[in-house]
Amino acid sequence: MEKRISGTTGLFTLLGTPVGHSGSPAMYNFSFQKQGLDYAYMAFDVKKEQMPQAIDALRLFKVRGSNVTMPCKSVAATLVDELSPAAKIIGAINVIVNDNGKLTGHITDGIGFVRNLKENGVEVAGKKLVVIGAGGAATALQVQSALDGAKAISIFNQDDEFYANAEKTQAKIKEAKPEVEVNVYPLADQAKLKAEIDSADILVNATIVGMKPLDGQSLVDPAFLRQDLVVADTVYNPLKTKLIEDAESLGCTVAPGKGMLLWQGAAAYTLFTGKDMPTDEYQAYEA
Ligand code: NAD
Repeated sequence: MEKRISGTTGLFTLLGTPVGHSGSPAMYNFSFQKQGLDYAYMAFDVKKEQMPQAIDALRLFKVRGSNVTMPCKSVAATLVDELSPAAKIIGAINVIVNDNGKLTGHITDGIGFVRNLKENGVEVAGKKLVVIGAGGAATALQVQSALDGAKAISIFNQDDEFYANAEKTQAKIKEAKPEVEVNVYPLADQAKLKAEIDSADILVNATIVGMKPLDGQSLVDPAFLRQDLVVADTVYNPLKTKLIEDAESLGCTVAPGKGMLLWQGAAAYTLFTGKDMPTDEYQAYEA
């Protein structure tokens, strides 16, 4: 490291809180070193209300780019100079690219979701998705799937503060991609959930259910699954949720959340550097 970092090293950052557990510094620094890029990546614990100062600091220190994590993704979108088309629709960003002082916000969570499916041999174009969830991850993957040509998206959510979000996403997709059929249903309507899964190609859990401490739980009755259904999860801790295990035991194609995490990071790396991230090498190193 002491040989790698010099007076000319360009800085990339992660902004949000908490950030201490993040795998991003290890992943990006490994990749910069592998590709001989004179960059370094550091995480900074920043609260939502500190984001205006943090964004000013990116400009002042000519930070080359930054990731943004919870709970700062929405406020960050209001502080940059320009937004990518998906970020404009979603109103949240997880990546900032600094082009000589002009900050552009992007959101790569949905890109990572679509790429994770692709890596598992599944295209979203022309497909019907059932997505349980209406929070940050759900919104990003619903919008990206619509932009990438999904035929229909049925959103289910429990009756909480996120439900209205699903209806907002439905309206936004209707405006941006009117040809995509988007419906929103209460998760409590299990008969509807079963019927929608029956006519879907891809089922996605984009809630926190399945994530520690809710591991071992699933929102989908295993009887609703069938072998030719593709089952994806956004949860990456644990690596396999109960939903993914139920689906695997039926022989379904599965796309667990760890792949989405890797590919959203890889998409950010490309925005940062213009290069493909050495994902195979990093996965081998991490294993
Ligand atoms: P969020 O807080 O924005 O949304 C939470 C969602 O979970 C809402 O839809 C809420 O209604 C639902 N929910 C909460 N408790 C529930 C319950 N008991 N029953 C049913 N639904 C419930 O969260 P988020 O940022 O969207 O994250 C969701 C999951 O996705 C987390 O596990 C997160 O780690 C993961 N995630 C993964 C990636 C990735 O790259 N793989 C990226 C972002 C988030």
